[in-house]
Amino acid sequence: MKVLLIGTGGREHALALALTKDDQLEELHVAPGNPGIANIALCHAVGVDDLQGIVALAHAIKIDLVVIGPEKPLVDGLADLLRADGFAVFGPSAAAAQLEGSKDFAKQIMQEANVPTARSFTCTNRAEVESALDAFGAPYVVKHDGLAAGKGVVVTDDRALALEHALLSQRVVIEEYLLGPEISLFGICDGTTVLAMQPAQDFKRAFDGDQGPNTGGMGAYSPLPWAPKNIMEETLERVLQPTVDAMARRGTPFVGLLYAGLALTDQGIKVIEFNARFGDPETQVLLLRLKTPLAQLLYQAATGTLHEAATLQWSEDWAVTVVLASEGYPASPKFGEPIIGINPVDGSAVFHAATTLDGTSLKSSGGRVLSITGVGSDLKEARDKAYRVLATISLQGSYYRSDIALNASIAEKGN
Ligand code: AMP
Repeated sequence: MKVLLIGTGGREHALALALTKDDQLEELHVAPGNPGIANIALCHAVGVDDLQGIVALAHAIKIDLVVIGPEKPLVDGLADLLRADGFAVFGPSAAAAQLEGSKDFAKQIMQEANVPTARSFTCTNRAEVESALDAFGAPYVVKHDGLAAGKGVVVTDDRALALEHALLSQRVVIEEYLLGPEISLFGICDGTTVLAMQPAQDFKRAFDGDQGPNTGGMGAYSPLPWAPKNIMEETLERVLQPTVDAMARRGTPFVGLLYAGLALTDQGIKVIEFNARFGDPETQVLLLRLKTPLAQLLYQAATGTLHEAATLQWSEDWAVTVVLASEGYPASPKFGEPIIGINPVDGSAVFHAATTLDGTSLKSSGGRVLSITGVGSDLKEARDKAYRVLATISLQGSYYRSDIALNASIAEKGN
């Protein structure tokens, strides 16, 4: 099988690594990829926004399967263009990607499919916003309707701030605050059948102890020793399958990765958000633990034959990933700094997220630079490996959280 993977980050590096481990894979092409991916695949200088360029590339290399990593090209209709030309694609159509592209649309689908989520109002003017804020009270949760690269959601006790954020967008969803730990649970979907992956947890705040600004994610781990035993079955039954069924009924089947961000509240699971693609950095931990050959699995999803797939196979290992971020991330990351000393140990992987080659020297090129992942027979071993590798890397001004999976690791030892 010849696979073309679209994207440039740590998620795509993890996807690339897992795809290369499938013995059915003949060639892995990536557009545009990054210097880490270039070590294991053929990278093409076609950007993720160059939709026509990607279609032309798929024709030129006679690809069997296209896997689309990021949300933007999905929402812009890349999967539709490729399918129109006969390609098998793992990634939803523009219409189905609205589950991520519009918070209001996601809410409508959840209501239609009876999926548990926070009560909400969609507001298009100040009076509606004010009355929704007062209906729920603090903490206020205000979400811009469209894709906002992680900047669309504000959770605050400050009503003035909530109002100010709401008025920045033409259409906002204001919802009740959900109290409880958050987990990410992914479903591989072929439009009809859904296979639930094991849960992971990511760490959204920049600094230790969940302090500092929200980020794209500073680390993740899987599995979750504290999650309810039936969390996969329950999420499949109450969230993923009904959503996929509702999308199929509408004539816009969801083919690809349905990401459910869930709060485990005292009234059970509730959906905080949907994404229409693999999450970053949860993918880095999940794919190092997934034993099912990935190229075949994603091909089955892309071709509507997932019902033929066996259930997903997982290793017994634990995995922890820690993000190395540039100075100033997330507000104003500094980049262009040399990265020195990447020395993975056995049972670890260093995924490139924002790196570039300047001659032969590797430099940072964005906010989240590397995702360092350790795998071990318990969380402590997985953590130790990730942090041991991190300690050898030098990148001027960079920082990382030192508490990824720490509490779970302590609790695990206590058991
Ligand atoms: P979202 O982009 O919808 O995932 O929101 C970003 C972050 O805001 C989530 O990961 C949560 O930490 C937080 N958040 C979003 N919605 C809620 C909610 N209804 N209650 C509590 N926190 C929320």
